Amino acid sequence: MTTITDLANPGISDLPIYEPGRPIEDVARELGFADANDIVKLASNENALGPSPKALAAMRDAAGQMHRYPDGGAFYLKQKLAEKLDVEPSMLLPGNGSNEILELLAHVFLAPGASIVMAEYAFVVYRLVAASHRCRVHAVAMPGLTHDLPAMLSAIDEDTRMVFIANPNNPTGTKVDQAQIDAFMDQVPERVVVCFDEAYFELLPVEQRPDCLKYVRDGRNVYVVRTFSKAYGLAGLRIGYAVGSPEAVSLLHRVRQPFNVNAMALAAALAALDDEEHVTRTRELVQAELGWLAAELTVRGIEYVPSVANFMLVKVGAGRDCFAALQQAGVVVRPMDGYRLPDYVRVTIGTREENGRFLSALDAWRGK
Ligand SMILES: *Cc1c(COP(=O)(O)O)cnc(C)c1O
Repeated sequence: MTTITDLANPGISDLPIYEPGRPIEDVARELGFADANDIVKLASNENALGPSPKALAAMRDAAGQMHRYPDGGAFYLKQKLAEKLDVEPSMLLPGNGSNEILELLAHVFLAPGASIVMAEYAFVVYRLVAASHRCRVHAVAMPGLTHDLPAMLSAIDEDTRMVFIANPNNPTGTKVDQAQIDAFMDQVPERVVVCFDEAYFELLPVEQRPDCLKYVRDGRNVYVVRTFSKAYGLAGLRIGYAVGSPEAVSLLHRVRQPFNVNAMALAAALAALDDEEHVTRTRELVQAELGWLAAELTVRGIEYVPSVANFMLVKVGAGRDCFAALQQAGVVVRPMDGYRLPDYVRVTIGTREENGRFLSALDAWRGK
């Protein structure tokens, strides 16, 4: 008998399925919590302060127009972003989350027999999009859990079509600085497309932000990818964007769906860009709580990876076991065995109360 799986393209049934952070409702149902509000989700690097009130108001205003298709050209959002980033609107392409942009890049540049270069513990979606296009992955070791850009340069071979650099990186929370990036960009061959994934960019203090848009403005074969999911607190709406040369962006337009970004997301993102104060409050909360959590872990003699983003890798020993125990206590973190970091869990920076719940649950598990 021919099964449906036999009919799928080669390699599809071998692809791993992405394991997202568990939704609060899921955990509440499974563990019998009557009130989902008793559960603290620190598993998906979401914004502890929620969306900007301005974005919420814009969504309410937009709701009555949801029988209309969205503006597939995203005119107003591109115009506002272009001003903010000092690029032309033609250099921007909004996507259904920045994950869609990664998929579009794969569609344009990857094919069976080609390969990508990425760091060993970099964002796993690069691996997934490469695998789904039957592309090999050169995963380069990360000493100190940081991208080793010279080693990534050396890993480039004749088959390499793309290099992915997550900066700051998820799940390690580490970043590479401008000098390291510039040295890399001096050497990288023209025939290799470089993608800088800057999902956590707005959470960096201004003086620590690398400038990769200069490579885009210079017409290098580079894309910079950002998102409204993290600092802007709009993960549920699914909206991010790519910045590239007009020619680079026009390639992505050819493979995207006509209405890839929904109208509610366009309205909310536009309004969120007008609420810098919300982003600043978010950044300040994250900075303060990173410091607090680090100090609390140090007191307990627990190792962690110093982070510049809104999450932290904590070395707990048996990560999967810790994850399960914390979940029982109503605190959802992310196990890291999927990243081959079985000693760690990744915890998102929440409010002080949420971070306290994490520490109490961790204490209870360690004292078991
Ligand atoms: C969260 C994250 C993304 C963002 O994904 P969206 O699809 O925009 O929600 C992209 N890259 C990295 C490294 C991330 O951690």
